[in-house]
Parts: sequence; structure tokens; C-alpha cells
Amino acid sequence: MARIAARTAAILGLDELGSRLGVLERASRPEPPALAEALRRRRESFPAWASSAAQSIGARTLGCEGTHGVFPKCNLACTPCYHGADANRVRIDGEHTLAEVDAQSAYHARRRGPGQYAQLIGGEVTLLPAREHAAALEAMIANGRKPMSMSHGDFDEAYLRDLALDEHGKPRFDRLYFALHFDKLMRGRRGAQRPEREADLHEHRASACAMFRRLSEETGMRTYLAHNMTVTPANVDEIPDLIRRCGQMGFRMFSFQPAAFQGNSVRWKEDYRGLTSDDVWSRIEEGAGARLPYRLIQTGDLRCNRTAYGAYVGARWVPLFDDRDPRDHGLRDAFFGAMGAMNTEVGPVLAGTRMARGIAREPRVVPIALAWATRLVRRAGLRQLVRHGARSMTFVMHSFMDAADVLPAWRLLERGQMSDEPSVRETQERLLACAYHMAHPETGRLIPACAQHAVYDPAENMRLAELLPARRATGGSVRGRAAP
Ligand code: SF4
Repeated sequence: MARIAARTAAILGLDELGSRLGVLERASRPEPPALAEALRRRRESFPAWASSAAQSIGARTLGCEGTHGVFPKCNLACTPCYHGADANRVRIDGEHTLAEVDAQSAYHARRRGPGQYAQLIGGEVTLLPAREHAAALEAMIANGRKPMSMSHGDFDEAYLRDLALDEHGKPRFDRLYFALHFDKLMRGRRGAQRPEREADLHEHRASACAMFRRLSEETGMRTYLAHNMTVTPANVDEIPDLIRRCGQMGFRMFSFQPAAFQGNSVRWKEDYRGLTSDDVWSRIEEGAGARLPYRLIQTGDLRCNRTAYGAYVGARWVPLFDDRDPRDHGLRDAFFGAMGAMNTEVGPVLAGTRMARGIAREPRVVPIALAWATRLVRRAGLRQLVRHGARSMTFVMHSFMDAADVLPAWRLLERGQMSDEPSVRETQERLLACAYHMAHPETGRLIPACAQHAVYDPAENMRLAELLPARRATGGSVRGRAAP
């Protein structure tokens, strides 16, 4: 198509028009060439045990990515905490953060192409001054990432505005993504120093959502809020009530992380392995008031990740897909074929053009999608839909692995060996199908987050503590509060 457009323009003597058409043609491809190539590589090297028609990695995404070694310090204390014991010996340094975020994002872009979701994660991101936090997000966007700031949510509205708006009060970003971590295993939150129940944090969850809602209403900026929660035997039974009471607050995703023995061993308090994935998932289903189908679209290894896509219609959660219905499997296949890893967060005209080109390469998606939409309306109830509308809500469970399991498995992988010992082999399989990587541009590697925390974080934090030693407090820490 590009060649035809260029030749036509040249024949007509319209070189400038030709070059503009060429730019438009490239921009409106469902996937830019670098992304298409990265997807192909990932698909071809993806381990057989996790490959299936349901696998979204290599078809729809490269998986998630996160920063590391950028601002490891935090001013709350969690049990467990995945950060090493040295993390709080490293001072927050905007210049270091920006240089690292830029280098890591550029490396992700080289290896994974543009348009991938990336977590700006430390440490606590709001310990960065708001302008430096904004500069880090801008660097990620400039490198083609879709950044999400990972925070404990204990920051002021003034901070959010300084982050989101420039000195003229204009939005710095089209969209602002945040994941807010709330659970009763955290210590030191203002107004909830030592919560005893998850319910003690509901007012804090609500006020964080309200802060983002006001920002959106007043500035027109789109915001997306995910709710993160570490799950242990101590709070697993509170999940249903939490979802029921917080499902309408404004979060668009509830992400649950069953606790793992990672990071600072002083903060390990319970027998985290008393819970199975099914135990946790069944509590999430209880809260959602519905079966949560997670087998239709899989991200990485099912032992690591489960995702259920759907929407609240009034108080009822309705799944987008039914993984027991073969017609929904057909929809997924046609959707992957048409949409691929298309980035549609680009403005309506370009998004529409990309979709039209996606449909052109998989025309059967149109009748299949229409039939699916009819089933979905039936599932949700037409009257309920008209009355309440629909508000998307995704449920996720991400089960990190214990450092003690990751260490030997990773050591063998580094030597190119797969273990015959079943539990080590399982860990290796999960690492090889990982859906969440950190960039190491200095060694030219992408490292699974489990290996990052278990293997690389301790030495990285020690190095950083020497490079950026924490300054002695001189009367109060960030926002006038002493770190716990
Ligand atoms: S290997 Fe670890 S970081 Fe990667 S997807 Fe599995 S649990 Fe997540």
C-alpha cells in the first residue's frame, strides 16, 4: 500500500502528498513493524507448555514491564515487603530516576516495540517530587510506553495536581494511569497507621478515588485506577466484602497478589503458602457475585496469572466472555487476528483507521463480533443496560513465586539447564513464560520480576545505597511524616 501511494503521488508530481500519505500509511498499520517483529519473535520462542490459542503474549501483547533500581525507598511498611532490606538506605534522587527510567524504557522499546504497558515502580513513586515523577512518565511515553504509576495511595490532592497539570494548569498527559496498593498488611498510612481490618481502609480507598474523579471532571484528563492488594491468610476472607463495598468507587481493576516469600525476610509474618490460587480466586468470585472466567484469554502461565474481563451493569458484574462457550473462543481467535497488538489509545481517527485495516485482514471478525455483542446484551439484560450503563471492571490475580524457589531455578536456567526435579522445573517453566519483565540495558537482558526481586534486587540496592546514600532526616521526612 505504501509503495502504491508513493508511486501514485510521484506520477502526479505530488511528492509532498506522497510523503504524507506514506506517514499516514505507516501510522495506521494495526501494528508498527518493530512491534510486529517483536511479537513474532516472542511467539516463536514462547515455551510450548504455555502456548495455546488463548495465549495473549505474542498475539495481543508482549506482557507487562516494570522499572527497577530507580527509587527503591518507601515510607510505609508492608508485611511482606518485596523490597530488600537495603531499599530504604537509598535516597530518592530525581536525576538518577530519570536517567534510569529513560534508559530502561528505551531498551524495552528496542526489544519489545512500542505501545506496551509499563509500571513506574519502586519504592513509593510519590516520594519523587511531582515534577520529577511527571518527567519520568514523560520519558516513558516518549519511549512508546504506556506508563502506570504504582503507589500506596497515601498522597495529597495537591501532589496529584502538580503531577498531572503543568504550570499553566493544563494537563500534561492524555491519560493518567495509577495502581493504588491498599491492604491492612501495610503500616504507617496517615489516618490508618495499623489497620486491623480491610474495612478500616475503605474511607482511604474512597477518598483516593474521589481525588482522581475530581481531576478528571475539572480538567478532562482521562484517569485509570487499579486497586492492588496483597493477599495472605490474614485478609483473604475479607476479599468478598472489600469487592462488594469498593466495586463502585471508581477502580477499573482489582488486582490481587497472593503473598510470596520475597524481599525483606524480617517482614515475613505468616505462612503464605497455606493459600492456593483457587482459594483466593474463589473469594474474588464471591465478592464479584459471579463465576470469573479466566481461561479464554491467558497472559503468560496460568500458574502465575488469571484475568477475568467484564463490566458492572448496576451492581451485577457481567463477564465479557464465557470460556465454556465455543462461540466466544471463535470471537477471541478472530479478535486476535484482526486487532493483534493494536494500540487504539491514539485518538479516534487514527484508531478508527487502524481498526478498519485490522478488520480488512480478518473480515470474519465483523459477523462474529455482532453475534457476540448480541449474546453479551442478553447476558447483561437489555433493560439493565439501558438503565445503568456498563462500567468496565477487570479482576486479576498475579501469584509471585518464593525467592527460595526462584534462586535455584534461575541458576540452572542461566546455565541453560532444565531441572528434572518437578518443583524446580515448574518454577523454570513459569519464569520462561513470564509476563512481567524488567529491562537490564547494561547486560542486554529482560529479567522476569520474580528473578529481579530474588536474584538481582539485593546487590542492586547495596550498590545504590553507596551511590545514593539516604540523607539523615533533618526534622520530618516527606510530607512531614516520619517513615515507620
Ligand atoms: S514468573 Fe513471576 S513475575 Fe513472571 S509472570 Fe510469573 S509470577 Fe509474575
